[in-house]
Amino acid sequence: MSTDSPLIIALDYASLDAALCMADSLDPAHCRLKVGKELFARSGPDVVDALHGRGFEVFLDLKFHDIPNTVAGAVQAAAEQGVWMVNVHAGGGRRMMEAAKERLQHHGLSTHLIAVTVLTSMEAEDLAEVGVSVTPAQQVERLALLARQSGMDGVVCSAHESARLRALCGEGFLKVTPGIRPSFAQADDQRRVMTPRDAMAAGSTHLVVGRPVTRAKEPMAALAAIEAELAGS
Ligand code: C5P
Repeated sequence: MSTDSPLIIALDYASLDAALCMADSLDPAHCRLKVGKELFARSGPDVVDALHGRGFEVFLDLKFHDIPNTVAGAVQAAAEQGVWMVNVHAGGGRRMMEAAKERLQHHGLSTHLIAVTVLTSMEAEDLAEVGVSVTPAQQVERLALLARQSGMDGVVCSAHESARLRALCGEGFLKVTPGIRPSFAQADDQRRVMTPRDAMAAGSTHLVVGRPVTRAKEPMAALAAIEAELAGS
């Protein structure tokens, strides 16, 4: 099933059963689902098949980063499983991103391919330690532009970066944004959060939401509350 909702719910679970239990309390007409490294490392492609079988579109968040041929093969494998979106690290460079994009095009695969710029866990000192002397914000801009030039469909970014990246890379360039907290939710361990409505106004095109929905007593009710916030009611 295809949805036009901007909401992507993060299935951050350590087992297939727990992930599917949450998926079964959500509706594929109202959200997509994100599968990350832990769940995929434990359950492999089975989880993707099971979610597709339930009608969900899947963002496979494995952040590939390797030599061009290896990343192209991994992206092709993900796309052939039918995932809606997959990602790579922009730090892998132009040739890596171009190889991944070309592989998808060569096989007629329409999976969205996006890039991670700078991990939000990296501060200026962390970047300096790996030889990057510009600020995190400058590095995000540099890598977002490189990602766009290399054929990526968009980037993962903080909502605090969305407006700047919209100006730099255009409206059509996808901005997939975690760190979203609806007005009813607590921040958890996220340090710089934004409400769904503010994030969309800032230029985010998709919102990744985890705990505000997955830890809610009634996940679908939490999702509906977010939809209501987005609609401004
Ligand atoms: O529960 P919460 O809404 O904080 O989950 C956010 C999701 O987005 C998690 O899967 C987390 O790994 C992911 N993410 C993030 N910050 C980033 C990149 C990804 O929170 N910079």
